Amino acid sequence: MPIAGIYGPDDFRKSAQRRPNAQARTPVSPAGRAAAWPMPQLEWTPEVERATAHLYERVKSVIPPVEWPLMAPTIKAINELKQERNAVILAHNYQTPEIFHCVADIGGDSLQLAIEATKVKSDIIVQCGVHFMAETSKILNPQKTVLIPDSRAGCSLASSIAGADVRLLRERFPGVPVVAYVNTSADVKAEVDICCTSSNAVQVVESLHAPTVIFLPDQYLAKYVASQTDVKIIAWKGACEVHERFTGEELRAYREADPSVQIIAHPECPPDVLAEADFTGSTAHMINWVRNKHPKRVVMITECSMADNVMAELPDVEIMRPCNLCPHMKRITLAKILDSLIYMREEVTIDPAIAEKARRSVERMINLKN
Ligand code: SF4
Repeated sequence: MPIAGIYGPDDFRKSAQRRPNAQARTPVSPAGRAAAWPMPQLEWTPEVERATAHLYERVKSVIPPVEWPLMAPTIKAINELKQERNAVILAHNYQTPEIFHCVADIGGDSLQLAIEATKVKSDIIVQCGVHFMAETSKILNPQKTVLIPDSRAGCSLASSIAGADVRLLRERFPGVPVVAYVNTSADVKAEVDICCTSSNAVQVVESLHAPTVIFLPDQYLAKYVASQTDVKIIAWKGACEVHERFTGEELRAYREADPSVQIIAHPECPPDVLAEADFTGSTAHMINWVRNKHPKRVVMITECSMADNVMAELPDVEIMRPCNLCPHMKRITLAKILDSLIYMREEVTIDPAIAEKARRSVERMINLKN
């Protein structure tokens, strides 16, 4: 059904304080510098070549041989240091292949990472993704040290709404339950009834058994959910700055060039894009779709590092992608991951009272899944 209403900060007289798109990067404190582990040697040697040969096999279809000697010494150092620190590296599907395939212990979409974060045995979690993902890991693992290699890795969706906005929405629509996409800060998660990801958004909305639901902050995901359910959806005016740039016209041009091509798109894209796609799904659903259907040629309408990661896994599938990169995801680099493990920075902290309330919303979603 069409969306019932769409609200934003301008619709409230008392507008809430917006979060900045990114946090300030925490400098290394004198104590952190004193406790730092020694900087490893980062030279390309025959030993490094031998030790990383099996990793290069995983990415050789997407990383040219000339670039590997520049990455391999840091990859080897990260893998050794994470053992010594008893750390685990979680990486989102939008991380570059040398991170996703060569240093990450667990890779996946927000839902997979949130679930895996609850099973982690290590003392330290290094989150290769954006800040709200690291917060989610901390929410679910309050006793563990959660590090993000660059806390400036924000998200246009997470910065579009604050906890105070949710309170204003509740005043405007008393009694209407609120679902928040996981792409929100901890203070927003603390104010809502349940979280969702793009993998389970429709299931979460319907699980509330309410005639109307407030769904925030992604207006396009909200429209997609509204098209899949009879529940009336009230949305927020947020958008992903990567997915909103795609256009239906762009997809039609791909199809005109090759009518047999398959097009798959993420539900954060605008409706005219989804109308042109053969399949719409979360990053995890898109990856499974390619694994199962094994098409000859496919256009992936999402952040372009994910296409690289799938190409590394399935080199015989020709994957085309308009290269829209997420500038926030790309703040995470091998050098910063190593820096994170050496100096134990940047540590993610959340007010315990907010974390406790946010945990209820995230766990309610995870328990629904299970
Ligand atoms: S791709 Fe979009 S939703 Fe994902 S982190 Fe970047 S801005 Fe946020």
